[in-house]
Amino acid sequence: MRIAKAIAHAGLCSRREAERWIEAGRVTVNGKKLDTPACLVGPGDMVEVDDKPLPEAGPVRLWRYHKPKGLVTTHRDPEGRKTVFEVLPPDMPRVISVGRLDIATEGLLLLTSDGGLARHLELPSTGWLRRYRVRAKGAITQDKLDALKEGIEIGGVKYGEIIAALDRVQGANVWLTIALREGKNREVKRIAAHLGLDVNRLIRISFGPFALADLKPGILEEVKPRILADQLGSSVAAEFGLKPSGEKAQAAKRKPGRRPPARHKRPRK
Ligand code: URA
Repeated sequence: MRIAKAIAHAGLCSRREAERWIEAGRVTVNGKKLDTPACLVGPGDMVEVDDKPLPEAGPVRLWRYHKPKGLVTTHRDPEGRKTVFEVLPPDMPRVISVGRLDIATEGLLLLTSDGGLARHLELPSTGWLRRYRVRAKGAITQDKLDALKEGIEIGGVKYGEIIAALDRVQGANVWLTIALREGKNREVKRIAAHLGLDVNRLIRISFGPFALADLKPGILEEVKPRILADQLGSSVAAEFGLKPSGEKAQAAKRKPGRRPPARHKRPRK
């Protein structure tokens, strides 16, 4: 496996960050300092970051976390603000976030022990829908929101399909639900500003198949490995060492086009 993938898989950081660490001369393989990420490592290789061996890669894990307002989604903040990672329970393993939420944004943030999984879930090609509830000052019509379906370009940045609904008008504010599949920097606020709206509350309510639901602010809940595997699909799950649940595994083995066997006997008359 490529060295950056091995470092990310051990949960230390994302693959991209691992590449930066390599370029900064922080990574050695079998005692030799690397100066390029073009290096393959296997189980017999001794990889060290900052002179410390890579931790054993445990099973891939994923948590749903209700991020409250006022926390930054970074491991170290140059301005010294409180980070999401500082407030996690002390028995949590080292985790990284799947993308980021701005300091004032609330709601669902996925956390994982595996940088490779974080990257996979963030990729536009994975295409998981991010849904937000938005409160913004200003006025808008559903027709204008419908026009966003075709995508939009704002200040040279292209946004793909945006599904937006006007939920209600509350005094000087509107409440919207906005769904997009990309994960670009400050995307909801930028799109809203382009429509003449000033966002004053932003809550992420779902990310792909995972919903905020009734998770309370500051609370974490681990996603069961079987559920994670089912949502990733069998080939991606296998890449991350996860087994899909029995039912899905059986379905994957079945030949296409064949009807699944009946699960229940017909009730007796
Ligand atoms: N869009 C934003 O503007 N901010 C977030 O935190 C997430 C999406």
